[in-house]
Amino acid sequence: MNDSAKLVLVVEDEHKIANLICDYLRSIGGYRSHHLDRGDVVVDWVRSSAPDLILLDWMLPGTDGIELCKQIRAFSQVPIIMVTARVEEIDRLLGLELGADDYICKPFSPREVVARVKAQLRRSEMHLKPPENHQLQIDPVKFQASIHGEVLKLTPVEFSLLHCLSEHPGRVFSREQLMNEIYNDYRIVSDRTVDTHIKNLRKKLADAARGNEFIESVYGVGYRFTY
Ligand code: CA
Repeated sequence: MNDSAKLVLVVEDEHKIANLICDYLRSIGGYRSHHLDRGDVVVDWVRSSAPDLILLDWMLPGTDGIELCKQIRAFSQVPIIMVTARVEEIDRLLGLELGADDYICKPFSPREVVARVKAQLRRSEMHLKPPENHQLQIDPVKFQASIHGEVLKLTPVEFSLLHCLSEHPGRVFSREQLMNEIYNDYRIVSDRTVDTHIKNLRKKLADAARGNEFIESVYGVGYRFTY
């Protein structure tokens, strides 16, 4: 393993899980990893070692993951993937707007973890800036979106979803958050409705942008915009 390999900090109090993840990060991802098993040593370590990404378990001895995420965000934009034990907790975490970049729920496959790590590292390298040839234009005044100069035929709801997601590239939105953004009275719609609108929106984007859908599903969580 060379020193230029990306360094991933794994904060996890279950040693078996941590060892498994560290093995996969090394063998599949080619990353270096470091494991900490309690929360109260994390901030000092992050300050001194400046990891490229942090996998952060919520429930930890010492300081918990929520508090750590807040403390780290006060001085660093390092990508953070929060790990939870229950899928229902993800909605609560999203609501806290901690500034985590992704969320993953146990039990997870180590391969899935490596894939998420890889995706976040790629994103952080791009600094979330649109590429030079980026052709998606969004005009919130006219309520119009265009690709390669061609105006997309979007419904008002599809436009609102696209506008909301694209304002924060890379950030994951839950279906509930999206519903809050786009409807005044979101009780009248269900999660399914959001999925249907997103599906239609992606198809229109992909048709105009030669296959680029711009919107990713994040399993068990919701959606995010990506260039
Ligand atoms: Ca734990």
